[in-house]
Amino acid sequence: MKKEEEVKRKSIQRRDFIKQVFLGSTIISAGFSVPEVIARTEDGVLVESGKEYGGFVVEKLSNDKFPYKYNPDILKQMSEKYNVFSRNVWDPLRQNRPGLTENLMYERLVKGEGKIPNQTRLDYALYTGAWTFANRGGRMAYRWDSPNRMFKNLGKWNPADIGMTWRDASIAVKHAALFYGASLSGIAKLNPLWIYSDHFAPKRDDRSRAIPVYRDGDRFEQTEDAWYIPESMNRVIALAFEEDYYAIANSPGRLASAAVGNGYSRMAFTALTLAEFIRALGYRAIPAGNGVGLSIPIAIDAGLGELGRLGLLVTPKFGPRVRLAKVITDMPLTPDPPISFGVPEFCEECMLCAEYCPSGAITKGPRTWKGTSPSNNPGTYKWYVRGEKCYDFNGFSCSNCKRVCPFSKPNNSWLHQMIRMIVKKRVNVLDKLLVTLDQASGYGKQLQDTEFWKMDGSKSITARDYK
Ligand code: SF4
Ligand code: SF4
Repeated sequence: MKKEEEVKRKSIQRRDFIKQVFLGSTIISAGFSVPEVIARTEDGVLVESGKEYGGFVVEKLSNDKFPYKYNPDILKQMSEKYNVFSRNVWDPLRQNRPGLTENLMYERLVKGEGKIPNQTRLDYALYTGAWTFANRGGRMAYRWDSPNRMFKNLGKWNPADIGMTWRDASIAVKHAALFYGASLSGIAKLNPLWIYSDHFAPKRDDRSRAIPVYRDGDRFEQTEDAWYIPESMNRVIALAFEEDYYAIANSPGRLASAAVGNGYSRMAFTALTLAEFIRALGYRAIPAGNGVGLSIPIAIDAGLGELGRLGLLVTPKFGPRVRLAKVITDMPLTPDPPISFGVPEFCEECMLCAEYCPSGAITKGPRTWKGTSPSNNPGTYKWYVRGEKCYDFNGFSCSNCKRVCPFSKPNNSWLHQMIRMIVKKRVNVLDKLLVTLDQASGYGKQLQDTEFWKMDGSKSITARDYK
């Protein structure tokens, strides 16, 4: 039985919950740790965990509730052909982008002799190493088949064989995901709306070619002309990979893109190894990074976080400082509940990401039901981001939105503890005041590469201790 179920349950209305949260804030500001608060709300169960949720109070929503709204009459499956990466290949509107005419690497490493601050040769070396597995191993990592024949004739593993339930097995699979390198993992029922309707498969003589993705029957195959993902593959394991706090703080310097590349390489490694783990248990597995479907709504459904103004997943523990991957499977895993911890309400007032976005990709306007870019998929109520503007800025090195987001900061200050509590009170004026105070204290400023390189690495993501 889960710990929260052992604790005495108590039904409360939101007004009572707010009282508890306020009490928690007061205790924290006085320097005491807060005990875990467990209660029922109208929409689910309330939990607080420093370890799991970085000190946030989080509402675990019951299974038919999600922390977003979509209109089923408008929202359709998106074709992969329309994301920015694909459009760069075929869309005439994308053929004059700066990356095609400017060679920033030449400017910085040859003309600038590798001495330009935050774009030095040392910074570029970290960046190049970070992308290695994504660039060289990604193609192999995201294949659907397995070279491993050893388990082929063993049939499907049944957890009952060793006295486990499927809930235990689901915990084991998430444990394996963390073992292989994920920072967070969660399980969701796969919503077919999040799967791409088409797979982008350009050819030399047909740059905009896309092949359909079918879900009928039991066919499981990638062919030249179509992909087949059977409906029985109705579970997905969402994986999040923390990006190094200090490297992201260097944005728009090269170290921030090293953090991004490091995330992409870890995505490929972990999705591949987790898929092999599942295949060894006799089940099908499709490992995917950005491909196959939309990682952000999948991660939200799997309880990893909520959507922020910056158009990214915001997690309680790492904020938006994560990259995402997923493994789709027919293993009958138990889904995790989606969570709500007040991100959109906080974003209504905050706007820091929009203020610090150098390309104007992030809106300061209200949430809407449709975007303004061909790469936006309308039908969800959210802030739509202009992905083209983001892509074109400064040779892929910007993470300013993640750098300044108050949720990115590790759980090491009373101020952020208070923000985390007050978020749930939905008192917007106070939220903005805290954002201002936090900036005045220096949070969110660019960290120079010279400062980064003076650190000994003990505070990197592998050490995971920011104190
Ligand atoms: S990465 Fe930079 S350019 Fe892109 S949305 Fe964030 S702040 Fe804007
Ligand atoms: S910077 Fe502020 S507005 Fe932007 S995602 Fe973070 S909390 Fe929301």
